[in-house]
Amino acid sequence: MRETDAVADARRDLEVCNACRYCESFCAVFPAMTLRRDFSTADIGYLANLCHNCRGCYYACQYAPPHPFNINLPQTFAQVRSETYEDYAWPAPMRGLFKSNGNLIAMTTVVLIAGVLLACMAIVDPSILYTPQTGPGAFYRVIPWWVMVLISGTTFGFAILALIMGFRAFWKDTGGKPGELTQGRPLATALHDIFTLRNLGGGGGGCNDRDEAFSNTRRRFHHLMFYGFLLCFASTTSATFYDHFLGHPAPYPFWSLPVQLGTWGGVGMVLGTAGLIWVKITADPAPAARNLLGAEYALLTLLFLVASTGLLLLGLRHTGAMGVILAVHLGTVFAFFLLTPYSKMVHGVYRSAALLRHALERQPAQPSPTLPPSAQSKDRAAGSVA
Ligand code: SF4
Ligand code: SF4
Repeated sequence: MRETDAVADARRDLEVCNACRYCESFCAVFPAMTLRRDFSTADIGYLANLCHNCRGCYYACQYAPPHPFNINLPQTFAQVRSETYEDYAWPAPMRGLFKSNGNLIAMTTVVLIAGVLLACMAIVDPSILYTPQTGPGAFYRVIPWWVMVLISGTTFGFAILALIMGFRAFWKDTGGKPGELTQGRPLATALHDIFTLRNLGGGGGGCNDRDEAFSNTRRRFHHLMFYGFLLCFASTTSATFYDHFLGHPAPYPFWSLPVQLGTWGGVGMVLGTAGLIWVKITADPAPAARNLLGAEYALLTLLFLVASTGLLLLGLRHTGAMGVILAVHLGTVFAFFLLTPYSKMVHGVYRSAALLRHALERQPAQPSPTLPPSAQSKDRAAGSVA
């Protein structure tokens, strides 16, 4: 990872915090910070990704602006995080995309929607876009099965590969070993922290979503979006199973498993993304990194469009509007897959890696296997004196 102005600012802030330690119980960052006296560039990347941007330390800090120390950890860490996303992105020539990802998300979405619409017209028949289609295989009469599989398989496969490569680079840079990834107890602790968003709990009463008042609003909206996303993924997986293993092509009845998972997942994503946009709009801008807000709004809007067009497709699938809505929905889904490695979506990968590293660091030290028990106790005694 590069040494930049943002990294230097974070290092200075952390040195002040390491002397102060007032916010020790707020989140995982402060206990991880106290394990270090010096902060390498990779350490700062790790701590920035461990920060969940709860803003608790900003409102609690006696050295926050307008104090001359100007300590603003949520803002500084947000800058460093965005630099880690860029530095660890794969392949390297694509790293520059992070700089313009707000515009990029909008443009790619529009181009892909238009592309899918034009492909439908060219491959099938323009009238298919406004003629009602019903019965098994109705979707494939609008967009052939092979087109859906080719584009979704390519974009999804590429996104997964790019995310794995980014994770690998981050893990290696922060001193991680491949064998540490499968250690049971730290992995369980990290998964618990990821799925509960424990670090958005602040000191216990929630975080400072919009101002100095404590709240769990952002955590709840994030849960709605995250679990909604997982339900939608489960819906697509179960639909693939129905199609390929049970021989039942979509569309499915409303009470079927794929439609129920997709409906509730879509509702969760729509409410979650709309809520997170509302929290951002109404929040105090002082602890935010304003230059990154455009890209964050663009990503939330794309996720909102993915979910809302999916629900619209469900409601209008037996009408003549189905063809156009299906093309628009698939355009947003393909854009999401393609842009995931170059948007804020990667925060899930690096934050998960940081939480696992933190869980590993908190493990009790193991006795050295190379020393006999008597020597180990002497070794410990010497260590405690030192
Ligand atoms: S953020 Fe401020 S109050 Fe909190 S530990 Fe750092 S210097 Fe101290
Ligand atoms: S903003 Fe919240 S999560 Fe980030 S360092 Fe401060 S207290 Fe920790």
